Amino acid sequence: MAFPATRMRRLRRTETLRGLVRETHLGPEHLIQPMFVVAGEGVREEVPSMPGIERLSISNLVEEAGEVAAAGVGAVLLFGVPAAKDEVGSGAYDDEGIVQMAVRALKEAHRDLTVITDVCLCEYTSHGHCGIVGDDGEVQNDISVELLAKIAISHAEAGADAVAPSDMMDGRIGSIRYQLDEEGHPEVPVIAYSAKYASAFYGPFRDAAGSTPGFGDRRGYQMDPANGAEAVREAELDLDEGADVLMVKPALPYLDVVRRVKDATGAPVAAYHVSGEYSMLKAAAANGWLDERAAVVEALTSIRRAGADAIVTYYAKEAAPWLR
Ligand SMILES: [Zn+2]
Repeated sequence: MAFPATRMRRLRRTETLRGLVRETHLGPEHLIQPMFVVAGEGVREEVPSMPGIERLSISNLVEEAGEVAAAGVGAVLLFGVPAAKDEVGSGAYDDEGIVQMAVRALKEAHRDLTVITDVCLCEYTSHGHCGIVGDDGEVQNDISVELLAKIAISHAEAGADAVAPSDMMDGRIGSIRYQLDEEGHPEVPVIAYSAKYASAFYGPFRDAAGSTPGFGDRRGYQMDPANGAEAVREAELDLDEGADVLMVKPALPYLDVVRRVKDATGAPVAAYHVSGEYSMLKAAAANGWLDERAAVVEALTSIRRAGADAIVTYYAKEAAPWLR
């Protein structure tokens, strides 16, 4: 037999041959665009550490969301930046809160756009933590869970198509699911941030959302970057509590976790390509160090290959035309 009989390069020779055997598909329909809504009129503020990303007041948000939808991206993930904050994050579950008003406006203008809301307290609390802080300086799990369920219900009442709790309190998925059902929203899916790591890659997001903790850090509730098996346990718990989608965050440094969660559960998995991942690509592109388009498509394809069904990414709108 001539050496070598099997030549792997044969199927790489032309684009058509490569297309026939391509294992991973990435389209705009897999992407979710995060958006930041602020109080006020006519506001459009660039986030300095995230070129191309802006904080928008409601009418500008509605306009921008129209462009996101027109690009073929089916869903947005909404974060609120309230005008005022307090110790208990009361702006988060106010029916006239910034997110609740934005959801109503988005659904009225773009009925087919899927609006997912971030459910957390950190953008609304004066101390910037994802729950209620007790006298001992610790985030109190069970009281925080009560408030998170209240937030989720107020988002569902406003018309949110899905809610995404990002706080990492124990038991919050079960509580949110139970209370959504009790309050007449059994059709609203829960997208659980199941494995959210205490990551250095969130820095630019905190500029955008104004949610840097006033003291301490989030390592008391977010996951240790050194752990993988624990992520699978978190995902299985959330699934038992009624989660519809399991999210891993960040994405690229945790592709092994995406794969493990997918293989262990078989459930729909989302990965959050976070602000730091976005800003690194933007900075390198701005310096001419990377071909932005090629690098972004490669990064997003890798996240899909690792097992993510959906990808939350700040590149969603910009990358959508590159994927057609
Ligand atoms: Zn939070």
